[in-house]
Amino acid sequence: MDRFDVIVIGMGPGGEAAAGRLLEAGRRVAVVERELIGGECAYWACIPSKTLLRGPEARAEASRAAGVATPALEWAGLRDYRDYMVRHLDDTAQVTGYEQAGATVIKAPARITRPGQVEAAGQLLQADHIVIATGSQPRRPAIDGLDDAEVWTNREATTVRDIPGRVLLIGGSAVGAELGQFYARWARRLPSSSAPAGSSTARIPASGSWPPRRSRPTASLSAPGPPLPAPAAPALSRSSLSTMAARRRPTW
Ligand SMILES: Cc1cc2nc3c(=O)[nH]c(=O)nc-3n(C[C@H](O)[C@H](O)[C@H](O)COP(=O)(O)OP(=O)(O)OC[C@H]3O[C@@H](n4cnc5c(N)ncnc54)[C@H](O)[C@@H]3O)c2cc1C
Repeated sequence: MDRFDVIVIGMGPGGEAAAGRLLEAGRRVAVVERELIGGECAYWACIPSKTLLRGPEARAEASRAAGVATPALEWAGLRDYRDYMVRHLDDTAQVTGYEQAGATVIKAPARITRPGQVEAAGQLLQADHIVIATGSQPRRPAIDGLDDAEVWTNREATTVRDIPGRVLLIGGSAVGAELGQFYARWARRLPSSSAPAGSSTARIPASGSWPPRRSRPTASLSAPGPPLPAPAAPALSRSSLSTMAARRRPTW
C-alpha cells in the first residue's frame, strides 16, 4: 500500500491550491481526480464563461464610444478560442505537470475506506491527512414540467457549438446573469436560420447544474487548436479567477 503525507481528493481550484502548496512545501502528495484536473472552473465555468463574455463585452463598449466603429462579432472565432481556453477538455498537460512536481496522480473516483485510507482505481492509498475538495453537488430545482423539457446546465451552456435562437434562463445569480448576458447579446445578432432545428427553446437552469453535470457535455469540441505548452509547475496560486480569462491561457 502506498503511503503519503497527504491525499487530495478532487482537483478543482480548491484541490489544486492545496496540492500546489503541499508540493511546494516538500510533502509527499497523491492527488485523485475522477474527471479533469482543473475541475468545474477550468472547463465548464469560470474560464469559458469569461472567455465567451469578452467579445460581446468589447463590442458593447465600442458601440458606446464616440469615434469608434462597432466591431462585428464572429462566433466561429470565439468558439475556437473558447475551445482552446478550456484545453479541448484535455488535462494531459496538468497530469504531467503534477507528476513532474512530484505528485502521484490517479484519475479515478476516490473513496475513503477508513480513516487515513483511500481507494481509487483499485489501489489503496494511506496518508496522515486527506483533503476533500470535491466541489458541490448539483441540484435540480423542483419545477413542474422540467422533467419533460430539454434542460441545459452550465456544462452545455459553456460548451455550446450552435447558439440557439431562444433561451429561457432560470435563476438570476452571478452565473445566470453572465450566461444570460452572453446568450442575449449573441442571439440578437444571429440570423434565426443559424439556430439548429429543435433547439430554439433551450432552457438553462443557471443556478446550478443538475445530474448530467458529471457526464460529458453533449456539445463536442472542435479539433485541437494551438498546442498548450507543458506546465512548468502545477497551480500554486490563483489571484483572481474572474480576471484569468482576460489573459492567455495559463500553462498549468
Ligand atoms: C458558469 C460559471 C462561472 C463561474 N465563474 C466563476 C468566476 O469567475 N470566479 C469564481 O471564483 N468562481 C466562478 N464560478 C464558481 C467556480 O466554478 C467554483 O466555485 C469552483 O469550481 C469550485 O471549486 P472546487 O475546487 O471547490 O470544486 P470543483 O471545481 O467542482 O472541483 C471539484 C473536483 O472534485 C472532483 N471530484 C468530486 N468527487 C470526487 C471523487 N469522489 N473522487 C475524485 N474526484 C472527485 C470533481 O470531478 C471536480 O473536478 C463559476 C461557476 C459557474 C458555473
